[in-house]
Formats: sequence, C-alpha cells, structure tokens
Amino acid sequence: MIRKYRELTRLEMEQVDKEETIVLIPVGALEQHGNQAPLGTDDIIAEAMVEYLGKALEEAGEADFPILAFPVIPVGLSTEHKNFCGSITLKPDTYYHLLYDISESLYRHGFRKIAFLVCHGGNLPVIQILSRELRSELGMSPFILSSGAFGHPDVQATISEGNHYDFHGGEMETSMVMAVDETLVKLETSEAGIPSAFVGNQTLKTGGNVTIGWVSEDWKTAEGKPIGIGGDPGGATAEKGRIILETSAKVLVPGLMEIRKWKA
Ligand SMILES: [Zn+2]
Repeated sequence: MIRKYRELTRLEMEQVDKEETIVLIPVGALEQHGNQAPLGTDDIIAEAMVEYLGKALEEAGEADFPILAFPVIPVGLSTEHKNFCGSITLKPDTYYHLLYDISESLYRHGFRKIAFLVCHGGNLPVIQILSRELRSELGMSPFILSSGAFGHPDVQATISEGNHYDFHGGEMETSMVMAVDETLVKLETSEAGIPSAFVGNQTLKTGGNVTIGWVSEDWKTAEGKPIGIGGDPGGATAEKGRIILETSAKVLVPGLMEIRKWKA
C-alpha cells in the first residue's frame, strides 16, 4: 500500500526521507463522461490507480518503495467539455499556478522528486510547461506519468469488437469506474460517440503527429447529437476495468524504478 500524504502527522512527515521519496500527484478532472459515467470519472480512476500501483509495487517486491501519494487534484483543464452540463474547468494560468504553488511548498519541505500522474489528457500541456519551470527555477526533478496504458495489447484486448474510436468516456474509462463501483455507472443510458469534425480535420493540426484542437462537441451520436465521448461504452464491465487498471499500474513500475535511481 502506498502511504498517503494527508494521513501522515507532522512528526511522521519530519521523518520522511525527502531526497529519496517521490511525491506522486494524481491530477484528475471534473467533467462530463457521457450519459453513463460520472463527472468525477478521472478522479475516481486516479484514486484507483494509486491503489493498484501500490499492489503492483508489492508484487514487484517493492512494498517499501519510497513514494507518497498526494491527494488527487480534483479539477483540471476541461475547456473542451465546458459546454456540457456539470463540467468544471480551471483556466490554464490558474491551473499552472495551483500546481506550481503546491510543488514549491513541497520543495520548501525538502522534496525534490515529484511525479504527476496524469489522469486526464487535457491537463498534460500545462504540466509539461510547468515541469520545465520547476526544474529550471527550483532545481526540482518533475516527472510525468500517464495513468492509462491505453495502447497496451492487454488493454486493447478488452475493447469490444467494432468499437472504434474508444477514448474519452468510452468503454475503457467506463470499465475502470465500474471496477471501483458499478453503481456509479448507468450503462442503460449510454450512447456511442463518433468523431465527426475530428476525422480528416487538418485545420487545427499543429505539427508532428500531434493533432490538437478537437472540441468535445465534435464527438456526436449517430443522430448527430453532440455527446462528447469517443467510442461505445455499451460493452463496459468491471472485470475489463480491473484488467485495465492492473495493466496500467504494472506498466508504471519500471518508470518509478528509473525515477528512484535519478540523481538531480
Ligand atoms: Zn476521463
């Protein structure tokens, strides 16, 4: 089990080896995930990932791995979802300063290694910029971990046949929430999302193999109603969710080992 930052007393925190310990900061989002999955899907997945990661470390013989889990940052950058009911977003500069200030406080206490566990892709660009600033301004060693090994063959194998475009709020994310608590998912209301304006839209292509600029309204149902999810969540199950969480956690272990060895 990974020790949680908020559960330590001040005295216990004083005894933590700050140079060695990695502070894992899970960054989630509070945004729509279709008809069927909760607004807090990314936060729920983030919390679950910390638990699964703890188990994966134990299985790797690293039960005492020097890591402390920070509380999940519950709101992130959800600009692309803001027109859907319930989605909450920070502005990029607010988000940058929120994470900067948290990191600086950690730095003041002696921590040097922080790892952002990114549980919502929209947060990534700001965290990339922030990481460089933390390194150059404070000399910290920030690392970025992705919470979902969505391209892993074991994860891909969970996706129902014909469910193309499975992504945000689709079968994979819905399954992960079900692995935590099936009652949070209302599968009977689910609809598939198909990327309409996204496919073949070159106007917002920025360079390299990165295509940015998709707006969640561009993901529509077969009838053309904006739904803001990718893929068909209809085949989601708790068992699939456990496979995805377990696989994703296992994949993170070698990266954490590397971070442990890292000398600033
Ligand atoms: Zn999500």
